Amino acid sequence: MPSTHVPTVMKAAVMHQLREISIEEIPVPQIKSDEVLIKVMAVGICGSDLHYYDHGRIGPYIVEGSFILGHECAGEIVDIGDDVHTLRIGDRVAIEPGVTCGVCEMCKAGRYNLCPNVEFLATPPYDGAFVQYLKIRQDFAFLIPDHLSYEEAALVEPFSVGIHAAARSKLQPGSTIAIMGMGPVGLMAVAAAKAYGASKIIVTDLEPLRLDAAKKMGATHVINVLEQDAIEAIQTITNGVGVDTAWETAGSPKALQAALGSLRRGGKLAIVGLPAQAEIPINIPFIADNEVDIYGVFRYANTYPKGIEFLSSGQIDASVLVTDKYPLEQTYEAMERALNHKSECLKVVVYPNA
Ligand SMILES: [Zn+2]
Ligand SMILES: [Zn+2]
Repeated sequence: MPSTHVPTVMKAAVMHQLREISIEEIPVPQIKSDEVLIKVMAVGICGSDLHYYDHGRIGPYIVEGSFILGHECAGEIVDIGDDVHTLRIGDRVAIEPGVTCGVCEMCKAGRYNLCPNVEFLATPPYDGAFVQYLKIRQDFAFLIPDHLSYEEAALVEPFSVGIHAAARSKLQPGSTIAIMGMGPVGLMAVAAAKAYGASKIIVTDLEPLRLDAAKKMGATHVINVLEQDAIEAIQTITNGVGVDTAWETAGSPKALQAALGSLRRGGKLAIVGLPAQAEIPINIPFIADNEVDIYGVFRYANTYPKGIEFLSSGQIDASVLVTDKYPLEQTYEAMERALNHKSECLKVVVYPNA
């Protein structure tokens, strides 16, 4: 198929200053021989996008000059490089947003999420996906079945974080788990715990909308921390034993302490969310006496095929998380909505080619 229908210029939602986004025309990217060009169909707004939008930095990553946000995306392939043989024009794909070097020690060990040379969409200095066309190296575009929507395919990104947490903390079928924080990452982590066969999935949050969504994603018990003490409630649910595994996804010091305190002896704690302050008080004797294993979780590796397979299986309907939809022209409104109405919306999605 010829690729002549691809235009040379496209619309992009560009941030020039904090909390300001304008729609501009920029060139459509030129692909290299091992890359594919994708017509972007859906982009989910993530907590990290909001952080760059509102604060201009996350740790060492600082936005300088104009910047394009968005990294949870999916679309249709409209052009392929000469060395691309397993993907075709017209294929629908989920895009894994971090392109790694493939040759460093971490890449070769299969832990490519720790590659120091990664180029990650919407992580400075690399622009993101609030554009009509995006290029990506062929091994980071994953075929999706026809019945999986583009917004569900975009959700494979936050789902991947949960899958990686499950792999890191060696989640076993039949086990009990507590997941703290029911933002989009926490909600997709519930789906991951379900996919890995956890029997009791206990979740905490303080927003009723999020706790309701958690039930739809597979939570068996929900705890509103405004009404109940999380550790006490979890002890009751587990007959005084505690959970096998706990994940903190909210970046809340209190939730991290509760996650630790809810573990059984020999339990496993995964840290997914990042607190605003680097150091928080933690019960060291509890960790030592109970031989708690603690896992850091940074993004994900080798999760996309599994994530697509599970979301395609129909065991959960992740599209219930999509509460708000905007065309690219209204990216500013979409960002403001996601930033200022956290108790009303779950996942806000932008459609660059609507
Ligand atoms: Zn994300
Ligand atoms: Zn590498």
